[in-house]
Amino acid sequence: MELLDGSLISKTIKSELSEKVTIRKSLGKKVPHLAAIIVGSDGASMTYVSSKVKSCQEIGFESTLIQLPSETTQGELLKQIFVLNNNADIDGYIIQLPLPKHIDEGTVLQAVDYKKDVDGFHPENVGRMALGLPCFLPATPAGILELLKRYKIDTVGKNCVVVGRSHIVGMPMGLLMQRNDNPGNATVTVVHSKTKNIQEICAKADILIVAIGKPYFVTAEMVKPGAVVIDVGITRVPDETKKSGFKLAGDVDFEKVSQKASFITPVPGGVGPMTIASLLMNTFIAAERKDA
Ligand code: NAP
Repeated sequence: MELLDGSLISKTIKSELSEKVTIRKSLGKKVPHLAAIIVGSDGASMTYVSSKVKSCQEIGFESTLIQLPSETTQGELLKQIFVLNNNADIDGYIIQLPLPKHIDEGTVLQAVDYKKDVDGFHPENVGRMALGLPCFLPATPAGILELLKRYKIDTVGKNCVVVGRSHIVGMPMGLLMQRNDNPGNATVTVVHSKTKNIQEICAKADILIVAIGKPYFVTAEMVKPGAVVIDVGITRVPDETKKSGFKLAGDVDFEKVSQKASFITPVPGGVGPMTIASLLMNTFIAAERKDA
C-alpha cells in the first residue's frame, strides 16, 4: 500500500505557486489576492478559513478575511458580495460554508461573480465543468484529480465508485472522473443514501471515492483488493487523549482498509490539504485570466 500524501503534494504545489508569484512580481504584475467571507464563528469553519488565509501568506498571495457576525442578514451579505465583485484588486473569493440557516446558500452563491468564484460553486462554473469548457473546478474534486495525476494513477477504463452526491464533492467528482480527460475516462457509479447494495457496489470499485461525513463507514469488506481509496470525509469525533477533546475521522476505516488498498489517502493529511492547494491554484488562474 502506498499513501497518497496530500500534505506532501500540497507543499510541492505551494512552492510551485510561490515561484510563479515571484515571476509575476518580476514582470511588474500584482500578486494574486484571495478574499474569504465567514459568517458566524463556528469552530471548524474558522479553522478551515484560517488555514486558507495562512496558506496565502506562505506563498506570497495577498489575502483578506472578512468576518461577519452570525446575525448578518442575507441582504447585508449580498452587499458585501457586491463590493467584492466590484473590487478590481480581488482576483477571487470564497464564502465559507455552511452559512447560518436564515441565509439561502443558493441565492448567495449565485450572486458571486463567476470569474471570481474560485470555489467553483457558481452555476456558470458547474455548467462549464459539465460541458468541459474553461472554468474553475470545485476545489475538493480538483484536488483529488491533482493527487491522482501526481501519483500517476491510471483511471482510464477503471470502475470508479463515488459515495455521496453533494454539489461540492460527490456530484462534480462523478462528472470529472467520467469526462474524456486525464485523469478521467473512468466508468463511474455515484451512490447515495437511497442506493441499495452499497457494499456490493463499492466492492467492485477499482477507484473508490468516499464523501459522506459518516466516520469509518467504509469497511475492509467493501473494498476490492488493490483498489485506490480516496477518503474525503472529515468529522470531529470525541478523543479524550487530545487537548482539544476531539480528533478528525474519515469516512473510511483506514487501519483495516489500508491493508487491502493499493493507494489510500489518510485523514488528516490526504484530501484536506489538496483542497486548499486547488483553491490557491484557482486563485492564481483567476489573476492570470484578468491579465489576459
Ligand atoms: P453532504 O453535503 O452532507 O452530502 C453527503 C452525501 O453523502 C449525500 O449525497 C448523502 O446522500 C450521502 N450519504 C449520507 N449518508 C449516506 C449513507 N449512509 N450511504 C450513502 N450515502 C450517504 O456532505 P459533503 O459536503 O459532500 O461532505 C462529505 C464529507 O466530506 C464531510 O465529512 C465533509 O466534512 C467532508 N469534506 C471534506 C473536504 C476536504 O477538503 N477534505 C471538503 C468538503 C467536504 P443523499 O444525497 O441521498 O442525502
